[in-house]
Amino acid sequence: MHLDTIVALATPPGVGAIGVIRVSGPKTIELVNEVFKGKDLTSVKSHTIHLGTIRDGETIVDEVLISLFKGPNSYTKEDVIEISCHGSQFIIQQLIKLLLRKGARLAKAGEFTQRAFINGRFDLAQAEAVADLIASENESMHSAAMNQMRGGFSQEIKNLREELVHFASMIELELDFAEEDVEFASREDLKKLINNLKALIQRLTESFTLGNAIKNGIPTVIAGKPNAGKSTLLNALLNEEKAIVSDIPGTTRDVIEDVINVDGIAFRFTDTAGIRTTEDKVEAIGVERTMSKMKAASVVLYLIDMKEDQPEDVDKEIAFIKDLGVPYLLIGNKLDQAKPAVQKQLEDNNALLISASQKQNLENLKEALKELVSLDDFKSGNTIVTNLRHYESLMQTNEALDRVITGIDQEITNDFLAMDIRNSLHHLGEITGEITTEDLLDNIFSKFCIGK
Ligand code: GDP
Repeated sequence: MHLDTIVALATPPGVGAIGVIRVSGPKTIELVNEVFKGKDLTSVKSHTIHLGTIRDGETIVDEVLISLFKGPNSYTKEDVIEISCHGSQFIIQQLIKLLLRKGARLAKAGEFTQRAFINGRFDLAQAEAVADLIASENESMHSAAMNQMRGGFSQEIKNLREELVHFASMIELELDFAEEDVEFASREDLKKLINNLKALIQRLTESFTLGNAIKNGIPTVIAGKPNAGKSTLLNALLNEEKAIVSDIPGTTRDVIEDVINVDGIAFRFTDTAGIRTTEDKVEAIGVERTMSKMKAASVVLYLIDMKEDQPEDVDKEIAFIKDLGVPYLLIGNKLDQAKPAVQKQLEDNNALLISASQKQNLENLKEALKELVSLDDFKSGNTIVTNLRHYESLMQTNEALDRVITGIDQEITNDFLAMDIRNSLHHLGEITGEITTEDLLDNIFSKFCIGK
């Protein structure tokens, strides 16, 4: 039970046309009503909006709109008021200070959402999706978060849990009848069930690679010999992006730095510092650092210099990149000044031919990039795990299930078997929040912004 009434600015700090101050808790209506001049808020209906002024004694602080939601039909399931005021820093500060003086307390980061979770509005995985939704920067991040928030992921976890609970209760029933040596659950059936669960968990954990890529951008590396045109290409790709984004006021360069969006998929160019500095120029292919950075990437754009490279070098480079075991695009650069023999060689290897400096064929390059990453799972609307915490819990569930299978094979006693099953249930419960600790909750919600 939360007795505090909390308040925070819900819109971003800074000057805006309007600012929204959110208040939630048992005293919300009474407290705002004390400073509001307009309708008597204690006698209005839920989900209504009211124009009036907020006054500090005789001083009018602002003319505002009050949106009123009565619990449990609100975001937090408590009484909630959102005050839309003029978006001046000064006004916002005055309003918040006034409410604090009247007895509200400043909300901690994520506290509104934390209350929504505690009051049962949604489970933990859904609450976490709210943070992802707010942070979503492109279409794929948005739909993964939206699916999770709407409970797609939670439902899969719930189904898993239900099957396991059934399983556990059978085993525990057998424990009750231990003297009689009965077997309610055929061990073969149980193993089948567990293997089904493991397959589902595997699908979910495998989706994390994609989920992580969606959330953080697909790690992409541009590689190639010194002077192949790596930084020219990177700048060409990024500049285009910046040109689009810089039209939107308030977007900082930092946010989009080294990320390009292709049809809603973010490609994050990693280790680009190396490309930009001259230090990289001394690196030849095969150098260990280049190798490891390419192997760590999900996608490698490998540039070959069609102007300077000799055909025999090109053969070596192609063999090298094919061997690397990472999805790659073979790209012939400097199409404007290519040696015909080398160009032919690259065409024979289905390379994409571009000119980075002339910005030629860059659209095709982006198209090819998009096709390189398999997003089938994503398109089919399958559940995708995007959260590291969920991924770790799934892995732990899987380990516990492995122990159950080994246990069955080694015919260990039912009480140990039941313990391992309970253990898998525990880890699944961590995902949706049936099992929580204060530390875990603090850790999750502190990552939210204040006011959410
Ligand atoms: P990096 O060492 O791989 O990063 O290569 P740079 O991007 O610094 O490019 C090396 C040189 O190649 C520079 O002088 C670029 O202007 C030039 N260059 C890059 N792309 C092209 C291209 O498409 N055509 C031609 N002719 N020159 C290019």
